[in-house]
Amino acid sequence: MIKPKVCIIFTGGTISMTVDETVGAAIPTLSGEKILAMVSNIDKLADIEVINFSEIPSPHITFDMLFNVKKLIIQKLDQDDISGVIVTHGTDTLEESAYFLDLTINHYKPVIVVGAMRNSSELGYDGSSNLAAAVCTAISKKAQNKGVLVVLNNVVNLASEVVKTNTLSLDTFQSPYGPLGIIDTNDLILYRNIAYREFIDTDKIERNVVLIKTVVDMDDSLIRASVELGAKGIILEAMGRGNLPLKVFEGVKYALSKGVLVVIVSRCNSGRVFESYGYGGGGKELSNLGAIMGGEARGPKARIKLMLALGKGMTKQQIKQLF
Ligand code: ASP
Repeated sequence: MIKPKVCIIFTGGTISMTVDETVGAAIPTLSGEKILAMVSNIDKLADIEVINFSEIPSPHITFDMLFNVKKLIIQKLDQDDISGVIVTHGTDTLEESAYFLDLTINHYKPVIVVGAMRNSSELGYDGSSNLAAAVCTAISKKAQNKGVLVVLNNVVNLASEVVKTNTLSLDTFQSPYGPLGIIDTNDLILYRNIAYREFIDTDKIERNVVLIKTVVDMDDSLIRASVELGAKGIILEAMGRGNLPLKVFEGVKYALSKGVLVVIVSRCNSGRVFESYGYGGGGKELSNLGAIMGGEARGPKARIKLMLALGKGMTKQQIKQLF
């Protein structure tokens, strides 16, 4: 029987780390080949092509790197012999990179982003089981046309929804509406389908987009400073349904008067923002003023979406539609 072929692009993260005795902490040391050697029996499921892209922790990931990873993924997906592509990645910024890839790749074949919460010097290293589950997902026809998927702890989540919720637990990656599915005995079991996929066809990103979290009794100094520093867009993590303290509201007025796009999302863990409140700084007022209500998006992902939309040169009206 011909085995499916999967390409794995190794970028680094805890999945590639060991504890360095002189440093006394984990650092990236393992090549793709070394990581794969710990995944027993994987060769029975698929042929694997290894690409050692980088060995870096995910807080060091840049958009330049992500555009290169994206190009590489599309190149591989376009190959007839490749069933799917896997990217190994540190978990700290995994949800952002996975979402970036989700928004910029429009292909039916599966793309999986995988990491580990324990490095290979720790008891119970989860890198091997996570990578095995990622391969099972990448070769499954059921994973096709689902956008980019995040696989850890035998659970398959959508890149567009998933969030790292805990600094330590193996089940840290959670989606507000539950996972897309699980891996059970090497098979992808789907719990649900996806509602829609978004695609922003661009090779450019607007870097001057800031994310600001609002807190009680905050003033407008961060917004004003961002505008003075040349921000093209501001993502505001507002309160609850999308409401702001009065001084921050003044800052929004200022930013909008200078032509800066302001997107309102919520600092809550889940739920949409909406024009529910009509008081000063409430969602209705913000929307009337011309701020864009960011719907379901959480701050870090909304930032990436706005950066790509501005990079593509979309108009304010198109960006409003997008959100
Ligand atoms: N700090 C690590 C990283 O993001 C954490 C991990 O991979 O789990 O690279």
